[in-house]
Amino acid sequence: MTDTATAPLTFAVTRNLAAKNPAQREAILQDPGFGTNFTDHMVDICWSEGGGWHRPRVQPYGPIPLDPAAAVLHYGQEIFEGIKAYRHADGSVHTFRPDRNAARLRNSARRLALPELPTEHFIQSLRELVAVDLDWVPSGADQSLYFRPFMFAKEAFLGVRPAKKVAYYLIACPAGSYFAGGVKPVSIWLSENYARAGKGGTGAAKTGGNYASSLLPQAEAYEKGCDQVVFLDQDGNVEELGGMNVVFVFKDGRVVTPESDSILEGITRDSLLQLAEDRGLTVERRAVSLQEWRDGVANGDITEVFACGTAAVVTPIGALKGEGFEEAQPQGDLALSLREELTDIQYGRREDKHGWLVRLDA
Ligand SMILES: *Cc1c(COP(=O)(O)O)cnc(C)c1O
Repeated sequence: MTDTATAPLTFAVTRNLAAKNPAQREAILQDPGFGTNFTDHMVDICWSEGGGWHRPRVQPYGPIPLDPAAAVLHYGQEIFEGIKAYRHADGSVHTFRPDRNAARLRNSARRLALPELPTEHFIQSLRELVAVDLDWVPSGADQSLYFRPFMFAKEAFLGVRPAKKVAYYLIACPAGSYFAGGVKPVSIWLSENYARAGKGGTGAAKTGGNYASSLLPQAEAYEKGCDQVVFLDQDGNVEELGGMNVVFVFKDGRVVTPESDSILEGITRDSLLQLAEDRGLTVERRAVSLQEWRDGVANGDITEVFACGTAAVVTPIGALKGEGFEEAQPQGDLALSLREELTDIQYGRREDKHGWLVRLDA
């Protein structure tokens, strides 16, 4: 019996007749920024309660027709992912651990009562988009094509229950070097008035609501002169920045990251910790209290603190500020050395020992 759920889909391809011409595209790729310039096409796959995943398409990038009563607009039933494609020196295009993003999208789907997209369909959607928009994968230093897969409740119904009609979309934007002029440490505001997620909530799912609730605390961080905000749980343990995970480096060679069911499990973090383990360092995934952080910095046990995620890869934390205190954070070289090792693998400059890369253009 064939497994129809994971048999390859046949995408109907509609070419964009108003696609950017090569000169326009090259002008954008010179300085792509992040998240404002999109490629010429997008992918979508429909889902319905009775029909499962159907009508896979590649079509011109453009507005999504949506009924004003679509459930996503009222109740926020939505999830997303973030993953990149990297162009190697020989011109080939690769992505990084897409099976992990696919698995995480399924976990997020379960929590938001959305249908689970099979891993094969997820990876196929990346290939289909690269097949039509291959020239949009930049080749400059630290440049990439950022994929934004997302899924939402499109059923027009104001009753509160899981939608019976859902859409999966994939769009992509060329992305420049996140840190023009070198990686520089960020300052972090400790949010004590707001939480990002609660026990049993949606903190471990990549869903828009978590980001919506982080905007006000992020605005508070800017007001306090900080770049980013860090959240605690109700027990005073460090969670994450709201879009990046946090890692602490100890003087004795331990590399420690907070673990709880309200933290989003980053694939960048997992990969960096694997590389740290490969170097013989001891990795710990456990609760880290704010007290342990501040004491560790004060007594010299903690030698580095950094944040990590797909967009910026690794960002050293330079300062922690909260109501009534400000503490400079120690700077070491592990964060940047792991960053270099990881990006070397992603761009094909170093052996991919863990088999993390998946070629997309062949
Ligand atoms: C996406 C995300 C991260 C980072 O995950 P990566 O897989 O490393 O990109 C961290 N925290 C939150 C809340 C996120 O949404």
